[in-house]
Amino acid sequence: MLYLDNSATTPILPEVKDKMLTYLSNEYGNPSGKYYQLAVNADQAIKESRTHLSKLLNSKEQEIIFTSGATESNNMVLKGVADYYTHKGKHIITSKAEHSAIMDVCEHLETKGYEVTYLDVDQYGRVNPDDLKEVMREDTILVSIMWGNNELGSLNDIEAISSICKEHNVFFHTDATQALGKVEINWDELDGISFLSCSAHKMHGPKGVGALAIRSDQYGKLIPFTPLFHGGGQEDGIRSGTYSVHNIVGFGEAARIAKKNLDKNRKQLNKLELRLREILNEKFHDNIAYNSDTKDKLPGVVNVQFIGLNNEVLLKKLAPIIAASTGSACSSAKPSHVLQATGLDLKAVRESIRFSFSPYSELSEVEIFNEL
Ligand code: PMP
Repeated sequence: MLYLDNSATTPILPEVKDKMLTYLSNEYGNPSGKYYQLAVNADQAIKESRTHLSKLLNSKEQEIIFTSGATESNNMVLKGVADYYTHKGKHIITSKAEHSAIMDVCEHLETKGYEVTYLDVDQYGRVNPDDLKEVMREDTILVSIMWGNNELGSLNDIEAISSICKEHNVFFHTDATQALGKVEINWDELDGISFLSCSAHKMHGPKGVGALAIRSDQYGKLIPFTPLFHGGGQEDGIRSGTYSVHNIVGFGEAARIAKKNLDKNRKQLNKLELRLREILNEKFHDNIAYNSDTKDKLPGVVNVQFIGLNNEVLLKKLAPIIAASTGSACSSAKPSHVLQATGLDLKAVRESIRFSFSPYSELSEVEIFNEL
């Protein structure tokens, strides 16, 4: 079976699993206990993971807060900033193509008296930065626009968006869950980005661990906001709760490997995608339509409409040989709001499938599509 649902989750790399096992067995210390070796070792392991992740993001180590995943990181920023800066304003800007871990939080905030502007997106799910300029207001406290789209692979113009936010002195959050490990994340250069969410399990790390990067000022002070969890004061009080040491170690190792292989992986993903498109074009001619762009996108993600074929029926038929999905695993029961936002009608949405490669897939494996 060829697994092509890597945007939903990825298998853990053997090196990652081996490292994690140590912290699931002998090294069971709580890093917050400082006086004995087991605790010191766990604390050291967390520090190393922070270093690896900061190298992948090009951030400072102290700007990284470990969380249980991107859903938590997104909730943390949106709810935390809304609460802390409510005296400044109650207006938030996002896009119609965000993941449900942004959309649903925004809808929740609307019930609490916040006003959310949902920017339109183009046919590939991208925000036009000029549209952002037009909806910026005096009372705007936060802009949240994703880096790479989980259903289409499209990349937003993060450089332009971050500089608009900087100009307007408005916090900018980006959900980089799909982008991390696939494209260069230049946090240091793009200092208009205030917050960035990411997750380990999209880049061959474990599930249940992620991070939030928070911009620090020249004195090393992080942007303040109300924490989601109150408790033991871990992560400088920003994210209380005992460290999930084995998961954080796994995330760190996955980040180290992703950084080392970034170029190689990108090339391989591009090759895999190109070959898939070639085969699909040869086999299906005009019976398919691509929802994904060919440029300015995450490599290895292809969303395609099989005209006249119901996607669920097709996916079930394919399942013994190819594992793919209709789009977001997190809201697969509903027709994709992302594809609808790009202008596709419901029929086209119900005929669309996302194939997402891993850089560890072999080119020869793609030939399986010739057997369809
Ligand atoms: N944001 C995006 C863009 C995603 O693709 C996902 C995972 N589907 C999430 C957030 C949620 O991530 P996690 O599973 O780590 O909570």
